[in-house]
Amino acid sequence: MHVIFAFVGLFLLSFVADVSGAEQPNILFIFTDDHAAHAISCYDSKINKTPNLDRIGNEGIRFDNCFCTNGICGPSRAVILTGKYSHKNGFLRNGNRFDGNQLTFPKMLQMVGYETAVIGKWHLGEHQEPTGFSYSEVLVGQGPYYNPTMLRDDHGNGDRKKINYTGYTTDIITDLALDWLKEGRKSDKPFMLMYQHKAPHREWCPGPKYLTMYDDVEIPEPVNLFDDYEGRGTAAHTQDMTIEKTMTDRDLKLVPPPFLNEEQLKVWNAAYEPKNEAFRKANLQGKDLVRWKYQRYIKDYLRCVAAVDDNIGRVLDYLDEAGLAENTIVVYSSDQGFYLGDHGWFDKRFMYEESYRQPLMVRWPGKIQPGTVSKALVSNVDFAETFIDVAGLDQPRAMQGASLTPLFDGEIPEDWRKSHYYHYYEFEANSRTPHMVRRHRGVRTDRYKLIDFYNLGEYELYDLEKDPHEMQSVYDQPEYEEVQKLLKYELDRLAEELEVPDDRGSVPKNPVYKNNPPAQKPNAGKKKAS
Ligand code: CA
Repeated sequence: MHVIFAFVGLFLLSFVADVSGAEQPNILFIFTDDHAAHAISCYDSKINKTPNLDRIGNEGIRFDNCFCTNGICGPSRAVILTGKYSHKNGFLRNGNRFDGNQLTFPKMLQMVGYETAVIGKWHLGEHQEPTGFSYSEVLVGQGPYYNPTMLRDDHGNGDRKKINYTGYTTDIITDLALDWLKEGRKSDKPFMLMYQHKAPHREWCPGPKYLTMYDDVEIPEPVNLFDDYEGRGTAAHTQDMTIEKTMTDRDLKLVPPPFLNEEQLKVWNAAYEPKNEAFRKANLQGKDLVRWKYQRYIKDYLRCVAAVDDNIGRVLDYLDEAGLAENTIVVYSSDQGFYLGDHGWFDKRFMYEESYRQPLMVRWPGKIQPGTVSKALVSNVDFAETFIDVAGLDQPRAMQGASLTPLFDGEIPEDWRKSHYYHYYEFEANSRTPHMVRRHRGVRTDRYKLIDFYNLGEYELYDLEKDPHEMQSVYDQPEYEEVQKLLKYELDRLAEELEVPDDRGSVPKNPVYKNNPPAQKPNAGKKKAS
């Protein structure tokens, strides 16, 4: 034990001492990239069915109000590993490097005897070796949808091999996860496996079995597919993430993806070429064209989700067959949500509901009653705390979330959080950053949301009960005066409690619009809203 203490420092003494001899459950953390809750049928999706994901939600607990702290891929992963907000773990935006020396929940689980592995998407720096894992096999960077190269470390010692696979990445990641569960791990130890998909990330490339799925159906459109952003401020007007304007021919599969081999390309073209030919002939314009793009986008997105769902079914079946299901906590989540045509958008980043919300479902036989639903405000900053809690460890003071185990019975304890803090950083004033979403911070309660676009000097305020789609900011409307005051106070209080630096990560005060000047001076948002 003294070797471990020398490594992690004395402050761990208190919680390591707390571990009893009780049986530690296995933890299977199933994670996807950009999977919105409103594309999961047990979250009442109007557009698809996910029978295997539903097994997790229906046989355990479904959290309806799980929100990310910073809605973008790498940062969300860093929050999950560390239990700390971005300004504390140092990974504020994609392109940052994750400091693998900091304390993470996999390292803590290792200290109390867990065998830990990460298989699939890592996305915390291409050359960044995952730390805290006895086994890792991860995609290089984003990784392609087909024929991925993966970096494998058999012993968690930094000796990595590059391996090229042929096939569909979602299937391959699942095969590798199953191999590790069956033969790779030491069966006398409890395990924690992070089984992490690339899908359904852009550019939404379906697997060979799914290329024509949904061909004969029309997917319902979101109510605000043709949003004109009239009720919101500069940020909504100047983003670059609309289905109408931002999507490329590659996104829309008007050209095939670059990573297919000859045989795969033949199958791909056989599926897409007739559809593309019909599209070219139709010569669509205006709203008809947007509608077509939406259908193409959402069908490809849902095809990717269908492959994830089928593969998760394989893993759940294996847990049953191997007798592991009873003592394994299965958790499903995604790094953040996604706009599925909502507001006319794809992508994420904004604090609006569709991308701010994360799916979160937990199945733990014997400990969580099937069919439990929680409306508590929870977050990806709580995941690490939950995992170490179920393994019998106390929470280090540096972690900023809270274990979710007191919520597992569906009740909300009196002292549970009443508000949640969000902060998105990825915007460079002087160059073109992807999707051009302005920096913002914000606070959400069960009913209201205040968003502070601090570089613009603009606020937005939403009454989610009256305006669930966030179409009209009510900031500065007289009837919300008291709510507005309280939320501003709460936002500052949370920033102080979480120790957000005053400079908010060196934010330029007067950003220069070089490439993307505001199209118009929006008349809503900060000052008056009619
Ligand atoms: Ca993501």
